[in-house]
Amino acid sequence: MGFASPGGSAGTGTGPQIVVLGAGILGVSTAVHLLRGGASVTLVTEAHPGSGASGRSLSWLNSGGTYPIEYHQLRLAGMDRYRTLLAENPDLDWLRFDGGVYWDGGSLADRCEAQQDRGYDARLVPARNVARVVAGLDPAALPEEVLLNPGEGWVSLPHLIRHLLGEFARLGGTLVTAAGRVCVATDGGTAVGLCSEAGELYRADVVLVAAGAGTPAVLDGLGAPLQDGSDLAMLVVTEPKAHNLKAVLNTPRVSLRPHPGSRLAMDSTWYLDSITPNGDGGWSVDPQVVLDLVDEASALLAGHPRLVAQSWRIGLKPIPGDGRPVLGELTGLPGCYVAFTHSGATLGLIAGELLAREMLTGRRHPMLAPFRPERMASDASAAAP
Ligand SMILES: Cc1cc2nc3c(=O)[nH]c(=O)nc-3n(C[C@H](O)[C@H](O)[C@H](O)COP(=O)(O)OP(=O)(O)OC[C@H]3O[C@@H](n4cnc5c(N)ncnc54)[C@H](O)[C@@H]3O)c2cc1C
Repeated sequence: MGFASPGGSAGTGTGPQIVVLGAGILGVSTAVHLLRGGASVTLVTEAHPGSGASGRSLSWLNSGGTYPIEYHQLRLAGMDRYRTLLAENPDLDWLRFDGGVYWDGGSLADRCEAQQDRGYDARLVPARNVARVVAGLDPAALPEEVLLNPGEGWVSLPHLIRHLLGEFARLGGTLVTAAGRVCVATDGGTAVGLCSEAGELYRADVVLVAAGAGTPAVLDGLGAPLQDGSDLAMLVVTEPKAHNLKAVLNTPRVSLRPHPGSRLAMDSTWYLDSITPNGDGGWSVDPQVVLDLVDEASALLAGHPRLVAQSWRIGLKPIPGDGRPVLGELTGLPGCYVAFTHSGATLGLIAGELLAREMLTGRRHPMLAPFRPERMASDASAAAP
């Protein structure tokens, strides 16, 4: 993997020169798809790959909510690409489709029916029968019935990013880490590359901003503000502990999934008010909250294994103001594309694929039509100098 020289152009290939801002799952996935399509790609990121939300994500692969149908279809396509990846690499321990179990509030019967109406695999299972279909749970900890979605899965994004960066390197991509806060360089109302704090310019024909929760700030600098609903989130990963859980669990007090190395990963929302800024741009939480969360997980599992938190990572989760993904070119700044979404795990592969296709061909993909940045009213007036 080479390093771009300041003032130089992106990469050495014969296709278009493209620079990508942000090495989270969206930036890395798009970069790899661009390289596959023949582009010359430089990926520039503030710290290191996966240092943002992708490094601390529960990453439940699903489309179980009451999403608008186009969003549902995009999410299903997202799950489909993960299944392809798993079929090509059946032994992966960081990507699994072993189902989802849900009882996180609301009427399960209504949720189940709404899912079945869309052809989404869903069934209500009485607690006494759960052990027959889902391993590793304590039936006594379950409500009368749970909702089972056998087609759901999970991924560990840091592992996926490492996997994709292997291909990125083989295809000749250039990765620039520890670049600090990077912004989009413009000339005559067009994006022409990225500019680092130190004044280094990475020239390109096309730019992608995939800066996670940092995306609104980057676009603000271009006079193209995005509606931002990003919020705090915490992911706890346990030390290795024998357990039989394979499914993803979404319950009122904890969402939980297996994690490579006999670990478990979990998050929830009940403690968010007790997260406080620690003065250096990071956040802290009372360690008792972490102990309590881990205990909530243990109480659901067969044998109630004693779980110990190995790490807990807190930071902003990128969320567009209207909750729907923002994917595509800025109408006010030709050559500048954006990828900003709350469901970046589920969409990671498909969003990268479709955005890369648009960036390489200029043809707008119909599946991205409902997710264009211009729906955010502020983009209509976006006119970069
Ligand atoms: C606790 C938690 C649970 C989640 N659960 C799920 C789930 O179950 N299912 C699901 O689909 N999604 C889930 N998500 C959301 C998903 O993880 C994110 O949507 C996805 O990881 C975002 O990836 P990204 O590439 O957009 O951003 P990030 O991973 O944040 O990457 C952006 C990168 O850009 C860098 N950057 C930012 N600004 C700049 C700048 N100005 N200059 C240079 N670099 C910059 C950052 O340092 C970062 O490395 C969850 C997220 C969290 C935190």
